[in-house]
Amino acid sequence: MLTLAKFSIGVGDRFGRQAQAQLRACELAAEAGVEVVPVWNKSNREHTIIGTEPTTTRAAADAAVRVRGWAKPYHVDADHIRLDTVDRFLGPCDFFTVDVADSIGQPADPAAVARFADRNAGLVGRHELPGLPEPVTITADDLRAVGAKYLEAAQDAGAIYRKIAAAKGAGSFVTEVSMDETDAPQTPPELLLILAALADEGVPLQTIAPKFTGRFNKGVDYVGDLRQFEREFRQDLAVIALAVGRFGLPANLKLSVHSGSDKFSLYPVIRRALRDTGAGLHLKTAGTTWLEEVIGLAEAGGDGLALAKEIYAAALKKKADLCAPYAAVIDIDPAKLPSADEVSGWSSEQYVRALRHEPADPQFNPHLRQLVHVGFKVAAGMGDRYLSAVEAHEATIARNVTGNLWDRHLKPLFVG
Ligand SMILES: [Zn+2]
Repeated sequence: MLTLAKFSIGVGDRFGRQAQAQLRACELAAEAGVEVVPVWNKSNREHTIIGTEPTTTRAAADAAVRVRGWAKPYHVDADHIRLDTVDRFLGPCDFFTVDVADSIGQPADPAAVARFADRNAGLVGRHELPGLPEPVTITADDLRAVGAKYLEAAQDAGAIYRKIAAAKGAGSFVTEVSMDETDAPQTPPELLLILAALADEGVPLQTIAPKFTGRFNKGVDYVGDLRQFEREFRQDLAVIALAVGRFGLPANLKLSVHSGSDKFSLYPVIRRALRDTGAGLHLKTAGTTWLEEVIGLAEAGGDGLALAKEIYAAALKKKADLCAPYAAVIDIDPAKLPSADEVSGWSSEQYVRALRHEPADPQFNPHLRQLVHVGFKVAAGMGDRYLSAVEAHEATIARNVTGNLWDRHLKPLFVG
């Protein structure tokens, strides 16, 4: 089986120009003694908004690996695909994030729910799990409730998995199951039973992305109760270890945190939990590499800064449209957005400090950052004008892309 390494990072790259600079961050981790495998993820939604094909993500990844001589594994992730959107990803991808969020809560066949509850009746009771102060308790009601709420989603995952396996061959790709884009976080007992249902469906998942407690807005820090997150995260790790032994799921099954990027306050919490348990992790970041492109343009001054200002002005004008597909994962206060006029008078330093995610900097503006984050459609509309500016200022941009991934993500999470 194609096996995902213990530590991996999902790097989004909206325009497919920064794969080398992203890979450089993984090289820095390797030089520091930690293997973190890069996974280039780009969802169907982002391909559709930009008008690109998954083959371009594969080409960019392969080219970067070739140029930099990266000898460790790497993957290309069909991020958040479903039965009706997976087709164009089948060729170029070797990692599939099977998104079943829409099927959660869809009514499952009562007879199938009863069979599920019968088959897993042995799980009812208190599970004392290593590293947890309290046992995880499963009741007969939990079995029926989880069956009713999640069985349809598990069956969906099975159907999508079998379609991919039929096209590519079982064992030739990594399977992730994602449930993060839904309303309510899954509790640890739910996670255990969901894994039971996925095992029943024969899905050899290596990563699972639950919805965690708290807000995971795009490109900005976590909003929520850190102690509750830590408690649930550790329970999830223990539940996964139990599920691997009990259901015969792949031994390297690990959590995938769809972070939306930049959950800086969670990194020490996650790092401690990984250290204490020896668990692996897949950290999926959003397309904040695109923000480093804008930061690099602004930092370059002259025509670069002018283009960065133009992008902001256009994003402000189209705010409602740009925000709509991301409504559940952004919190922008319009009153905190500077006017286009004001930004047009900014220096390079003012623009960079407003956009760059340095939480301690009083000039940092998370509202502007989230708007620019969803504003990549504006740059896509500029076509070659945007891409040639990115090329012209490649050195400045690459420094920002690598520095961001390494200093603000890989180092605090995996290296310390
Ligand atoms: Zn996600």
